Amino acid sequence: MTTWNEVLRTIVPGLPALLIGAIACVGASGCAGMRATQQNDAGTAQRNVILLIGDGLGASAITMARNYHLGAGGRLHLDDLPHSGFCTTYSVREDDPTKPQYVTDSAASATAIATGRKTSNHRVSTAAKTGEPLPTILELARDAGFRTGLVTDASLADATPAAFASHINYRWCHGPRMMSACPAFSTIFGGPGSIVEQMVAARVDVLFGGGEGSFEQTIPAGEHAGRSALQVAKAAGYRVLRDGRGLSELTPGQPVLGVFAEENMTPRWAASLASFPPPGAPVRCREASRPSREPTLVEMFDSALRLLAADASGTPGFFLMAEAALIDKRAHAADACGQIGDTIELDAVVARARAFAYANPGTLVIVVGDHDHTPQIVDPDFARVNPGITTTLETADGVPMTIAYATSTFTFKQQHTGAQLPIAAYGAGAAAVAGRMDHTDVFALMAATLRIGAQP
Ligand code: MG
Ligand code: ZN
Repeated sequence: MTTWNEVLRTIVPGLPALLIGAIACVGASGCAGMRATQQNDAGTAQRNVILLIGDGLGASAITMARNYHLGAGGRLHLDDLPHSGFCTTYSVREDDPTKPQYVTDSAASATAIATGRKTSNHRVSTAAKTGEPLPTILELARDAGFRTGLVTDASLADATPAAFASHINYRWCHGPRMMSACPAFSTIFGGPGSIVEQMVAARVDVLFGGGEGSFEQTIPAGEHAGRSALQVAKAAGYRVLRDGRGLSELTPGQPVLGVFAEENMTPRWAASLASFPPPGAPVRCREASRPSREPTLVEMFDSALRLLAADASGTPGFFLMAEAALIDKRAHAADACGQIGDTIELDAVVARARAFAYANPGTLVIVVGDHDHTPQIVDPDFARVNPGITTTLETADGVPMTIAYATSTFTFKQQHTGAQLPIAAYGAGAAAVAGRMDHTDVFALMAATLRIGAQP
């Protein structure tokens, strides 16, 4: 009889022995402590993966959020996940994919997580140089009968969600009218279309985020010519939702596309932009005013999890990716409050995912960033000699915390950085998250947990 380890090595040839040992419990029917509360038709426990991505969630972002919200000695939900390690993020060069690019963008890093393969910056689940489409964990899960979902507080067409359900050479080809850098993919030239067209064709069960503007653009050619991706989705049986107040009324059994903002959604906390010279007294962050139709990331996540878990009965389980994208977007803008608010929002999602995994033991929860980012917690006494811009917040400890942004001379164009990131996990197979990993190992662990993967 073939052992589980041999099966794993077959389906995921690159999987390190460390991971195989740690996730063997997933496939062993007698695994200690296994409580099968969800069952599929074969009467076996369901296997679920909840992947939580903080865009730009580096060690600085986590520490800033903890200091501000709970105090330096406080504990985020993220801090209490029992298995953790570090994750390298580098991408590769388009002209020579054997060489690293030390600072990745969100497209190449999401590709590594989604497909287990490194690519060059700006590519979405296509190989560097050759452009070969790379199968994603979501597609593999869908094809194996799992329910699937993507949730983000950015546009659904943004690079992170895009890498799970589309394949294109350039990340900004969001909609059918944004294809100038992706001509071969345009329907005008017989291609599969923009990111939103491909995302609808991918038949993801739950899609929640922003990006309405891209989904409303008219498709110029091909079988859907003259219609928008939203109209194509409706015709394909999707329920289309544009107001988050309808999330709690959704019932399982019908795929759903929820677009709640023209582009990216509103950060939880209003902006506190860094400046030079440093601003005066420390500030506390304020709630942002949010359009009434925009749900929070937590509300979208709760709804997606409820729908996927209910709809997954009779299936092997589900795959759900939820992204806190505004950590990155506000870090680019040197906005500490915007960034911290989205980190706190992600932390609330972590608590919910963990509670679900506790009640449903076949579930793996992974939390990881896609790349490091600019902000540094600096000594306020030296803020005046910092070459960049700074902002100072009054933390939960009642003391000032000064954040410096110094990767660009343009205030609103702070850049990604290349340090390895924290990664943490809970649930089925989570013990494999240990030591120094890479984004490509996250794909391998998810594939092994779901027992899917590219066949040899
Ligand atoms: Mg992103
Ligand atoms: Zn970014």
